[in-house]
Amino acid sequence: MDASLRDAVDLARAVAVEIGGSAVGDYLGAELEDELVVTHSFATTDKAYVGWRWSVTVARADGSDEVTVDDVVLLPGAGALIAPAWVPWSERVQPGDLAPGDLLPPAPDDPRLVPAYTDTTDELAAAAFWELGLDRPRVLGLEGRLDAADRWYEGEPGPFSAMAKQAPGQCLDCAFRLPLAGGLSALFGVCANAFAPDDGKVVALDHGCGAHSETAVDTSQTAGMVVEDEELELVVVAPSPDDETPDGHAS
Ligand code: SF4
Repeated sequence: MDASLRDAVDLARAVAVEIGGSAVGDYLGAELEDELVVTHSFATTDKAYVGWRWSVTVARADGSDEVTVDDVVLLPGAGALIAPAWVPWSERVQPGDLAPGDLLPPAPDDPRLVPAYTDTTDELAAAAFWELGLDRPRVLGLEGRLDAADRWYEGEPGPFSAMAKQAPGQCLDCAFRLPLAGGLSALFGVCANAFAPDDGKVVALDHGCGAHSETAVDTSQTAGMVVEDEELELVVVAPSPDDETPDGHAS
């Protein structure tokens, strides 16, 4: 390490104090950045910046004895409290975040969308998923369709949800299942049962629920009407005229 740069601690501290004032604390050491570039570090005593350090970079031109200050900056050290890395909103947005009135345009290079007529990325899939896309400039491509199929199948409309696992029957043979068109019809349909939790939603053929059209409940063991005496509410009623005696008293 260049000796004049290494020894420029007082200069570095003076510049740090110029910026940080009384918040400049103990000297933490020097670090070689380049042949004639050294960074001196000082702890900060500012309670709002625990774990941060003042970092002062000094340098010297080859052939010159003059040490100059390149940079003064407050940097986070190990254990410093720092903000999480910034994530663009387009990567942060989650399914279900969209509220009424919000706009969410797809990215210009959204891999799920392909121009209509040209979705031939995979020969087999193209046969199964091919779509003319009339009146639409783009259609959902193979990637977008497989994405949706995975998401639906692994999620609540799939066969692994608690509802499906306890269902007496599957959507496959349920009268309330409406068929889809296209390749996805091999695996999914739409539930049209007002009493099913999935009414109006896509359901996997091996999904199911207790409102399956062929659900049968054995009622042969059911007793007659059960009267809970303790649940009866007693009310006071006025005597009817028929109940009165000729002298005007209740009978
Ligand atoms: S009622 Fe239940 S079993 Fe029938 S289609 Fe809807 S979710 Fe599937």
